Amino acid sequence: MIVVMNHDANEKDIESVIRKLEKSGFQIHLSRGVERTIIGAIGDKTRLGSLALEAMPGVEKVVPILAPFKLASRNFKEQDTVVTVGDIQIGGQAVHVMAGPCAVESREQLMEAAFRVKEAGATVLRGGAFKPRTSPYSFQGLEEKGLEMLAEAREATGLYIVTEVMDSKTLSLVTQYADILQIGARNMQNFFLLRDAATTGKPVLLKRGPSATIEEWLMAAEYIISGGNQQVILCERGIRSFDPYTRNTLDLTAVPVLKYLTHLPVIVDPSHAIGKWRFVPPMARAAVAAGADGLLVEVHPNPSEALCDGPQSLTPENFRILMEEVRQVSKIMNRTMPDVR
Ligand code: PEP
Ligand code: MN
Repeated sequence: MIVVMNHDANEKDIESVIRKLEKSGFQIHLSRGVERTIIGAIGDKTRLGSLALEAMPGVEKVVPILAPFKLASRNFKEQDTVVTVGDIQIGGQAVHVMAGPCAVESREQLMEAAFRVKEAGATVLRGGAFKPRTSPYSFQGLEEKGLEMLAEAREATGLYIVTEVMDSKTLSLVTQYADILQIGARNMQNFFLLRDAATTGKPVLLKRGPSATIEEWLMAAEYIISGGNQQVILCERGIRSFDPYTRNTLDLTAVPVLKYLTHLPVIVDPSHAIGKWRFVPPMARAAVAAGADGLLVEVHPNPSEALCDGPQSLTPENFRILMEEVRQVSKIMNRTMPDVR
C-alpha cells in the first residue's frame, strides 16, 4: 500500500509514519515527488487496521495497491522514472536509439558499426559479448575480449554501451565494461540474476521473456527495484505466437499498457521481434508512434556475413534512413531526438 502525504506535511510527520510502519514490520520505499511525498509500505496488510495511519498528522490518504507489483507501479510513483546514463536520459523528453550488431565479432566489425550508428544519431552502442544461443554449436561470443572491444568503441565514439549479462558468475566482469546491463529474454525470470544485478548500481535493460505476461515482466522488474535499483528500462522484443512467418510477434500494445501501469521507461526492439530486416523500419516507426521511449536495433556492417542474427540486421545505410524517419515520427509525438554528436 502507499501512504500519500499532504503537500504541507513536514519531515517530522513523514518520519513518524515511517517509524510506525517499520515497527509493524513493513518495508519502506520513499518517493519524494515535486508536489508530495509518497511512502510505499510492503508487508502484512492485515496489520494496517490497527495502525490508524489516516489519523496521523500530515497523512492525506492510505491507498492499497492491488497489483502484485508495487514499486514498479504508477500508483506508487506517478512521475516517469528517468534513467540517467552519463549525459543522456532515457525515459525523458528525448527518444534514444541503441544500435549495433547482435554480437561483437571483431574489432573492425564493431568499430565500423559503432561509427556508422553514431553518425546516424544513436546514443548507445549494443553488442553481445556473451550470447544466449539456442544451439551449443553456434557462435557463443568473444566474452571478455568482446567487452574490451566495446570499451574501445566507447572510447573512440563517445557512445554508451549496452551488453548482455547471462549469469551471476560473469556479472562483475560485465559490470566493469557496461553502461547498461542487458538481461535477455531467456533470463527475464532468472530471479537470482535479477537480485544480483540490482546490487551493481548500473541501469538494467530488462527484456520481456518470450512467453511472459506483462504482469510477470513487471514482477521481474520488481525484483530489481526492491533490491534497491530503480534504474530499470523495459524492452519489448516480441512474444511467442503461432505464425512462423516472423520470428516472434511484436506486442506493441505493451507500450501504452506499460506506460499506464508503470513509471519505468519502455523501449522496443523490433529486430528480435520480427527477425527479418525488411520489416524492422515500419515497426520501429510504429513503436515511437505508440509512445516508446527508445529503440534497440540490430545493425551490422555486412549482414550477410554476420555470425549471429544477420537476417534481421539493418545495413548502416538502411539504419541511417530509418533514423531520419524516426526523427519525423518523434517530432509528431512531441518528442525530441538527440542531435548527432
Ligand atoms: C539480443 O539482444 O541480442 C538478444 C539475444 O535478445 P533477446 O534476449 O531479446 O532474444
Ligand atoms: Mn540478436
